[in-house]
Amino acid sequence: MKLKLGNLGYPRIGASREWKKTLEQFWSGGIAEEAFEQEMKRQRLAILAKQRDAGVQFVPVGDFSYYDSMLDTSAMFGVVPERFGYAGGEVKPELYFAMARGNRTATACEMTKWFDTNYHYIVPELTKDTAFALAANRPLQLFLEAKQELGLTGKPVIIGPYTYLKLAKGYAKADFAVLLERLVPVYAQVLQELQEAGADWVQLDEPALVTLQDTSELALFAAAYRRLLEAAPSLRVMLQTYFGALDADVLAAVVSLPVHGIGLDFVRGRDAHLAALRAGGWPQLLTLGAGVIDGRNIWRADLADALALVRDIAAIVPADRLIVQPSCSLLHVPISRAGEALLPAALAQALSFADEKLQELALLAAAFEGDEAANAGLAASGEALAALAQLRAASRVAADVTGAADAVTRRSPGFAARQELQQRKWQLPPLPTTTIGSFPQTPDIRKARQSWRKGDWTKEQYDAFIQGHIRKWISLQEDIGLDVLVHGEFERTDMVEFFGEKLGGFAFTANGWVQSYGSRCVKPPVIYADVRFTGPMTVAESAFAQTLTPKPVKGMLTGPVTILNWSFVRDDIPRRETTYQIAAALRQEIEALEAAGVRMIQVDEPALREGLPLKPSERDAYLGWAVEAFRRATSSVRPDTQIHTHMCYCEFHDMIDAISALDADVISIETSRSHGELIGAFESNTYDKGIGLGVYDIHSPRVPDAEEMLKMIERALRVLPDRLFWINPDCGLKTRGETETVAALRNMVQAAQTAREQLGAGV
Ligand code: GLN
Ligand code: ZN
Repeated sequence: MKLKLGNLGYPRIGASREWKKTLEQFWSGGIAEEAFEQEMKRQRLAILAKQRDAGVQFVPVGDFSYYDSMLDTSAMFGVVPERFGYAGGEVKPELYFAMARGNRTATACEMTKWFDTNYHYIVPELTKDTAFALAANRPLQLFLEAKQELGLTGKPVIIGPYTYLKLAKGYAKADFAVLLERLVPVYAQVLQELQEAGADWVQLDEPALVTLQDTSELALFAAAYRRLLEAAPSLRVMLQTYFGALDADVLAAVVSLPVHGIGLDFVRGRDAHLAALRAGGWPQLLTLGAGVIDGRNIWRADLADALALVRDIAAIVPADRLIVQPSCSLLHVPISRAGEALLPAALAQALSFADEKLQELALLAAAFEGDEAANAGLAASGEALAALAQLRAASRVAADVTGAADAVTRRSPGFAARQELQQRKWQLPPLPTTTIGSFPQTPDIRKARQSWRKGDWTKEQYDAFIQGHIRKWISLQEDIGLDVLVHGEFERTDMVEFFGEKLGGFAFTANGWVQSYGSRCVKPPVIYADVRFTGPMTVAESAFAQTLTPKPVKGMLTGPVTILNWSFVRDDIPRRETTYQIAAALRQEIEALEAAGVRMIQVDEPALREGLPLKPSERDAYLGWAVEAFRRATSSVRPDTQIHTHMCYCEFHDMIDAISALDADVISIETSRSHGELIGAFESNTYDKGIGLGVYDIHSPRVPDAEEMLKMIERALRVLPDRLFWINPDCGLKTRGETETVAALRNMVQAAQTAREQLGAGV
């Protein structure tokens, strides 16, 4: 019996990032709107044709966005914040991009992470009074385009009403029901028009079902879908979920809906979904979209195992009702490993990006039918994975390096005693001032790095150049009057890549780009084997900086959890294990720094929070090992060595215990854009270690005056004890210019001085 082949979404950025280039050209006025539309159409059709030629029978259309699919949904329904002066009708590119990026008069809409991925979506802004109207049926336009130009009956992909609403902001929970009800007619209209145009299947994405907690929402969801489905009875709706298993009650509820298909993630939800299917059976006429190839990682699948999974599923769901597909959209992986000729063969051959994943699905479907050639393909794939396993075995780190056995995971003495020792040693004034680590990365620094990488400069020339910058900024910081200095991170491009290049177990692809937000693409490092310390990574620059000044200079490292979360990781061992390996390597680095006379060390964990699992029931386990990893890295230092950490977000009221458990002597966090919120968190929670709240926003070139910063300090001191309080900017300053940086820091130091005087005077 033949299985059908589906796809849920394909990367839009293009094999040589042509999508990004076209967008940026349009934004800068380099091409006119018509040419832009034409080029985008060309790219869009090429992507569709490619998938069709790969044997995909359900080719997604409409997932090709000019920025983001959530924003597309807002534009489709005329959900445009008031500040953009929208008067109804189609949302044209100028307005569409203004919502994404801001314009002269209106700030951009908020952007935030799409579930637990590194992709960011544009947050819809709703109020309880928001009215929805079908401004333009974009899915219909794109369906017709594919039909006309390619003769292809594509599968329009639309973010479903439940997920759209769950990810929107600005309305009260109590208004959820009424907004959902109001969304149904406009969604119904979209579906009706598609039905009339001859669409066969439509995919409604409802990943938020995976996180559904509140059963009253489930009833609302079911009622909304029943009404929606009645509106277009001959259209076949695939209710698509991904990023994990549906809870049993949610699955039972959606299975009883009159949808034609349900898409489930059998990669992250394999056991739960199989168990639920076995227990509850499967309605005879319902199609199952079985996500059996991981859409979130970059490795070849174990196809023998995937085939066994498909057979398990086929024992419950008749094969003619079965579509094999990736576990989620392929948006989150690069396009093709074809460009990776520079990697060791065993590594390159083990990669599977979007195109290879589609090939794997085709192979699976053929193997299921008993096709001889497919069996050979399966065997070849197995061999490629075996070669990768061998490469990994050769790099294995001894268990005693990563094992908990000898890892010191608790600092002693406790914070209070350490604070005394540290204060005796450093004699810092009350409310000490510092920065987060990086100083402006000016064009001459980037140029110097290129000269050295190309071989035009020797290593000595480059190092001398970096030292020149360190020297300049140490003296600037002394002149500004900061209490704790930094070396400036001039030698680093990126806070993960820099370490990845120096640690064992990492590889860097030539073309492994994925979209992060808008036209911004990132090329995450690949952790392919055990991570190992191979030699000091930051000691030279930090120790050099410390020789230039009697003031303390903080050493600067990226933490284990952030390195993990911003890389592509292995799928043969738990993420926890890899994180412990990174922690062990960082511990060696920290010990080397300490030995070299660097006695304040900051370990940044800006990505700690984004690794938080979607399901609340899994969060404690994650936080447990994340905290443990940080402590393994930082606990072996002397009591009077001061450990700092930094996080760039303020939403931490729900994880304040975990943050405290890191046992860092000082944490700096970003707060200036949402001060009230964070201060509120400290009213209900106590934090009993050193803490610096960002007193100015580094994302803008604006230089706030001392008075403005003083107000921030005063507000914070109402809920935080002054003996624990530090004064710093929100985040690193690498994207800022030198003049504005110096001016802002001078104002910050002045604000600190005034705050100290007020303390002294008992104000
Ligand atoms: N130390 C880093 C810097 O200052 C921290 C960056 C971050 O938090 N993302 O740039
Ligand atoms: Zn930051």
